[in-house]
Amino acid sequence: MEHGPLPARMGLACHKCWKEMDVQLSRCGGCRRISYCGTECRNSDWKAHKPMCKALSSLEKNSFAAATLVSLLPKKPITHIGEIRKLTDRQIAICLTSLQRHPTAVAVEHSWLDSEPRCIVCTRTDMVIRMEAAMNGTMADDTKRLTPCPQCMLSFCCSPEHWEAARKLHQEPSDDLRDGLSQCQMNKFARGQIMFETTMTSWLDRRGQLVWIPQRVKSRWVSLEGVSWEDGFDGEIRKSFGMLAPLPITFLITAASDTLSMAMTILYGLGKLNDDDGWTRKHTLAVHVLGADIKEVSCSRVFEEILHRLPEVKTLKLIMCGPEVPRRDSLDHKICPDCMALGRSYVLEYAAVPYHEFVEKQGNKFERPDLCIGFNSGASQVTWYTWPTTFKLLVERKLPSLFTAYNREEAEGDAAMLRAAGAAFHPALGPALNPWGSMKGVPTAHSVYGFQVENGWLAGGFR
Ligand SMILES: [Zn+2]
Ligand SMILES: [Zn+2]
Ligand SMILES: [Zn+2]
Ligand SMILES: [Zn+2]
Ligand SMILES: [Zn+2]
Repeated sequence: MEHGPLPARMGLACHKCWKEMDVQLSRCGGCRRISYCGTECRNSDWKAHKPMCKALSSLEKNSFAAATLVSLLPKKPITHIGEIRKLTDRQIAICLTSLQRHPTAVAVEHSWLDSEPRCIVCTRTDMVIRMEAAMNGTMADDTKRLTPCPQCMLSFCCSPEHWEAARKLHQEPSDDLRDGLSQCQMNKFARGQIMFETTMTSWLDRRGQLVWIPQRVKSRWVSLEGVSWEDGFDGEIRKSFGMLAPLPITFLITAASDTLSMAMTILYGLGKLNDDDGWTRKHTLAVHVLGADIKEVSCSRVFEEILHRLPEVKTLKLIMCGPEVPRRDSLDHKICPDCMALGRSYVLEYAAVPYHEFVEKQGNKFERPDLCIGFNSGASQVTWYTWPTTFKLLVERKLPSLFTAYNREEAEGDAAMLRAAGAAFHPALGPALNPWGSMKGVPTAHSVYGFQVENGWLAGGFR
């Protein structure tokens, strides 16, 4: 979190101490992009903030960038999430290109521009509003700026007309989110979650994740059908963290679900793709993680939960496969004393190549896995990757497979690609909300509804 939690990056909390409550925030006079709680924080942050501040001010004075950004604005409010995303991406690209010409360009990152508050139906930012005013010869003052939704204070509009166009979608229950939450409700929860996680850093790993599994081996496999995160983990997380207050428990389960979701989604998929419970009694259960990267590798401990829910399985064999996987030797993952006493093992292997290359290289030695899983593969979001070749191989070899996505748009895009490769989905496995997707949603500044959720959607499962 080098730029602080989302509210601080959005200018809604102090950029230095991250306080947002009980403080009078004022904007940085240079870039007018971030806020401080007072001169003490402002002064102590200046050395770190200066390059970015200068770069953003120069961007605002760049008349060519201003004209281009303003000319891109839509004439009418847009509520289609894909259209808004495309417009936002073009604007960010223009900003980045202009910033590259500035000597301190390194200070401004894509993610930072992406979290800039925007009108959710026209993509105007405060800077674009000022650029527009300057072009029209009106004073570029701070009275004209985005107004936050009065309830969640995390989604913005540039005018009462645009708020009217967005309000219903923003406030009504969304099919795209767990429990039929609205974007507004999810925003409120997400904000609480973000601020809670800034207070629990001692429990988080270097990537700011909570990697936690309960230390126990269940006596028998119990189907995950109709079970929720709370049913499954509430008592155990209380025990593990020794907390009794009701609110932080939800935040804790949410934080844990963000990584644990990978293990639970594998179990859920196996349950659906198999006709009987035979797989729960196998000696060795093999899972291949396709398109794995540092996220999966850094959380590899959570996959032991698979052993913990399948007491009859002796060995879990996991292969992390993908071009972004670090080159490492296979290892016997250190497991808990209970599993050790039962003579069980968790073998982890790495293959730093796309999956179809891995299978080809293995030749006759290739062992069919019980499941091929791709977490948030984003296959439809990238053009340079080789997913179609992998998809074809999975279908041709009839390998049981499951793919997840961050949200409905990505799930539907990935599903279309999988179908084009010949996949016929299990009816419960896509495109559909994943009951074992993370409870955590990352709000995006540009969207009128929808969120980015780790494994939030199932793009498609087949065998
Ligand atoms: Zn402060
Ligand atoms: Zn500044
Ligand atoms: Zn607007
Ligand atoms: Zn709201
Ligand atoms: Zn164990």
